[in-house]
Amino acid sequence: MTIPANSPTLRSWIPVAKDSDFPIQNIPFGIASWNGEAPVPATRIGDTVIDLSILADMGLLDGLGHSREAFLAPNLNALMAGGKQGIRALRQRLSELLQEGNATVRDDNATREDALLPLDQVTMHLPVEVGDYTDFYSSREHATNVGSLFRDPANALFPNWLHLPVGYHGRASSLIASGTPIHRPMGQTRPDPQAPPIFGPTKQLDLELEMGFFTFDGKPLGQRISTAEADEHIFGLVLFNDWSARDIQSWEYVPLGPFLAKNFASSMSAWVVTLDALEPFRIPGPVQDPAVLPYLKADDGAFDIALEAALAPEGGEATTICRTNFKHLYWSMAQQLAHHTVNGCNIRRGDLMASGTISGSTPDSFGSMLELTWRGTKPLTLANGEERKFIADGDTLILRGHAQKDGLRIGFGTLSTKVLPVVPFV
Ligand code: CA
Repeated sequence: MTIPANSPTLRSWIPVAKDSDFPIQNIPFGIASWNGEAPVPATRIGDTVIDLSILADMGLLDGLGHSREAFLAPNLNALMAGGKQGIRALRQRLSELLQEGNATVRDDNATREDALLPLDQVTMHLPVEVGDYTDFYSSREHATNVGSLFRDPANALFPNWLHLPVGYHGRASSLIASGTPIHRPMGQTRPDPQAPPIFGPTKQLDLELEMGFFTFDGKPLGQRISTAEADEHIFGLVLFNDWSARDIQSWEYVPLGPFLAKNFASSMSAWVVTLDALEPFRIPGPVQDPAVLPYLKADDGAFDIALEAALAPEGGEATTICRTNFKHLYWSMAQQLAHHTVNGCNIRRGDLMASGTISGSTPDSFGSMLELTWRGTKPLTLANGEERKFIADGDTLILRGHAQKDGLRIGFGTLSTKVLPVVPFV
């Protein structure tokens, strides 16, 4: 008898710690390499990474609509060609192979030793080759805070904000995997509004705590994806840090929006957690008032995913600086996708849509230093006693996220990025 991959009673023959983000009910997808070998698709149970190329080579993943070559690719794009049903079938097959009682891999010493690797011996890479990356601005609290800080507290939200999911086209070339450091960017700022602009390292380097989702194939140019169809086009989610330089941003962003303040780097977590795995954590979305136009009406709700950000100074312990939740977003993923395509703009397999900074209503739930320190006027104190208004060289930013209910925990692991000094001209 087939047991559904989300069944809470399932257990794996691979050990899973009680508080792990990766029980057998997760079965996320990522790209892993070890011993200098080529990166290949993988999944994870507990702290064990499973090389899908080995299982495919044994014929254990046949009959699901995926070519064997797709399991040798350095990204998940080929596996995503089968859409929702293809990934669903693969996740179900992996669940069956890895559940206790299934001896196929468990009792095959050679395959097990080849395919299973301890997490600490593995290098994780970008999971998807992203063609286009779009960043939304879907947290009402964040948009209100930024509008208050950059413009006018009395009119913090622009008139369009409650009527459409505001977004802008980001840059795919500077997307980086967890563990890849970034360098402090240089740029043009105007700290004194009465004086000419200056050039130098940003003094207001910031994180943006976000989540992102990847798309399967969309529709041809000129067609639209409705809110009801959106779910079928969404592969899964990752944690996302949209690095930002606030002093560069506030000077450059008029009238076309952020440019060099955002495109120097954006980091994502390693494991794509499918919407199927997150289904138990779907909850009603926020009430939208005023009512949205008919093409934006949606019933996909929200997902209850606890998120946090921590900052670790060089050589020091990490301090949690923010606790928030994915459910705080005003605009849903279906609304974002429907709005993005309503003019006939095509999305493609492997596109990335990020949520925008996810801030809650309390000051400890703000998803950026800009908001947490109210643009430097209320510095944070770290565990080692140091203060931060923005992010310093040597700091490591760590994002985490997980959903939990009735003893089931599905999570994303960590997204870790260290900030290095400016690169000198060479
Ligand atoms: Ca952003």
